[in-house]
Amino acid sequence: MLFDAHNHLQAKRFAGRQAELLAECEGLSRMVVNGCAEEDWPQVAALAKAHPQVLPSFGYHPWFIHERTGNWESELNRFLDAHPASVGEIGLDRWKEGLEYEGQEEVFTAQLHIAAERNLPVSIHCLKAWGRLLELLEQGPVTARGFLLHSYGGSAEMIALLAKLGAYFSFPGYYMREAQGRQREAFTKVPPDRLLIETDAPDQLLPEELREHALDDPEGNPINHPANLGAVYRFEAKMLDEPLEKLEARVEENFLRLFGGL
Ligand SMILES: [Zn+2]
Repeated sequence: MLFDAHNHLQAKRFAGRQAELLAECEGLSRMVVNGCAEEDWPQVAALAKAHPQVLPSFGYHPWFIHERTGNWESELNRFLDAHPASVGEIGLDRWKEGLEYEGQEEVFTAQLHIAAERNLPVSIHCLKAWGRLLELLEQGPVTARGFLLHSYGGSAEMIALLAKLGAYFSFPGYYMREAQGRQREAFTKVPPDRLLIETDAPDQLLPEELREHALDDPEGNPINHPANLGAVYRFEAKMLDEPLEKLEARVEENFLRLFGGL
């Protein structure tokens, strides 16, 4: 049984082929599908309704907070009232060119509060803002059941501090690239009970030679097929020098501890 801790199955780049793609996800038990803005929350909710594998997640991603309406918080609460769901994708980003940092901490913290009040897991994106993220998480509130740092790209040294606050860390296929050696090394330091696996599909393409399921967007650009999840598991097992069945069992336990019951 495989668990995808983070993807965006609602993405327009999948061109409405979600049912077909899900049918190709061999061994998939559940996937957390992350909404990023008020605009795509209804699509995430619709996918969850149609497919029991989909665990919906609603949140404002830092790339899209400039689109937020005056009542985005009540909209978020409305979606969380209506669906068993997690909160995300939320986060901080000082990496993306041209992206305003202004407002990011305020929106991030407001969503941490909403998640903590409801004791819902939170999926967090962080690029080049690790020091600030740690400070904000230390200030809290942090959901008692924990939170996910998806595609963890922070330092190996920070892992213990973040784990103490309740962090889980998920490994994406993009890190199968040799150039991602620093991130790969960090994953060998993740506590055994805090490791998760993700595709982040349609993003974070696997290196071509390790891609098991090819897929193009309507413009003909290669995108990540969610069925590549199995390939990421196999690579991570090899990297950790752990039998695949053992890793699968461990990831299942970790996934259900963080996201179970939703
Ligand atoms: Zn994402």
